[in-house]
Amino acid sequence: MTNDKQPALWIKDPLAILADGAERGVVVRDGRIVELVAAGQSPGTPDVKIFDAGQHVVLPGLINTHHHFYQTLTRAVPAALDRELFPWLQALYPIWARLTPEALDLGMTLAMAELMLSGCTTTTDHHYVFPAGLEDSVDIEVQAARRLGLRVLLTRGSMNLSQRDGGLPPDSVVQDEDTILADSERVVARYHEAGDGAMVQIALAPCSPFSVTTSLMRSTAGLAQRLNVRLHTHLAESEDENRFCQQMHNCRPLDYLEDCGWLSDRVWLAHGIHFDAGEIRRLARAGTTIAHCACSNQTLASGTCPVCEMEEAGMRIGLGVDGSASNDASNLMQEVRAAFLLQRSRYGVTKVGHLDALRWATTGSAACVGRTDIGAIMAGAQADFALFKLDELRFSGSGDPLAALVLCGAHRADRVMVGGRWIVENGQIPGLDLADLMRRHSAAVRTLQGG
Ligand SMILES: [Zn+2]
Repeated sequence: MTNDKQPALWIKDPLAILADGAERGVVVRDGRIVELVAAGQSPGTPDVKIFDAGQHVVLPGLINTHHHFYQTLTRAVPAALDRELFPWLQALYPIWARLTPEALDLGMTLAMAELMLSGCTTTTDHHYVFPAGLEDSVDIEVQAARRLGLRVLLTRGSMNLSQRDGGLPPDSVVQDEDTILADSERVVARYHEAGDGAMVQIALAPCSPFSVTTSLMRSTAGLAQRLNVRLHTHLAESEDENRFCQQMHNCRPLDYLEDCGWLSDRVWLAHGIHFDAGEIRRLARAGTTIAHCACSNQTLASGTCPVCEMEEAGMRIGLGVDGSASNDASNLMQEVRAAFLLQRSRYGVTKVGHLDALRWATTGSAACVGRTDIGAIMAGAQADFALFKLDELRFSGSGDPLAALVLCGAHRADRVMVGGRWIVENGQIPGLDLADLMRRHSAAVRTLQGG
């Protein structure tokens, strides 16, 4: 939670900072940035405490726009290795059907800890597996996020189209439409905070066109509008999906989305790879945003999101690590590098630079989660920062500190602040015993996968 009785803190003289007019750093008070300190200036804010950032490169806190925390419990599963999306899902559904509340809590806590240590200050999570006994998955998740102090946009996911009805998932992991809608309304009423500085927000997120009925897609869009919360789903991830949509609905995925009332600025979509030029223009006009998941797309060989065409059309692009089972890591700073490399290989060195990749993970991601109070270092914004040191072998002798983070492969933040509070200090999460967490997490994985 935000500590609103702090003295002002000057994060002073950073090695570099991703902000204009803040060469001497920023002043933070009551959880917000109150002042940028330009070159040659001193803070106008009285009685500031000082944090010497002389060894730190300061970024706006990174924002993760797509993930499935529970999948940290199914990393590098032998039966799912080297499979494409649909058979890969089919190999994992039976394991996910055995999830327990304890395992879920450990998987979620581990995912968030990993994100925090990589410089993430706000994350989404797309949780869509609700087997019997896990009806309060979102509640478990909110508690875990609050314990860690991470800012979150948790989605109440859903699946109601199982094998019985021509869908992909087994019957044991889906729920009926009434149950899904009632619980969606419950978790929004209970946990969603509106407005600047929100620490917990809820969005609604049917899993994908191949695991949800048309009726649920439509009713979820209506509910999101009524409750004024965001909407999320996977779309245009694979060619399999195009074929499925053609067979099932006799149209392409975006046509289907529009037909369900989903083509709007309330929506951010994971992946967005297989759109044509006309579809990109329609998405841009609607204000729909994309969570680009470079590691996941490369792991599953899904294709490459046409990020430059989308940005040229006026779309906003954020970054997502995606579920640990298709990335096997929840490291957002590594995702910045992966997106930089993937997009540069597609578009060339003059069109994609390190600042583009950092923009996707900050202001671009903020657009995906529908917020203007995070993602940029500016007066009035939330005091969310990721601070990296360049004291590893990989950075030795590097020139431009901001470029070095991306080009040399930064992967672990030294300090992370959320709402004015340090949630990572000296590369550690205060109050969290990582060795103990890994021991308990690994034990839960053995139980889950052992059957
Ligand atoms: Zn995903």
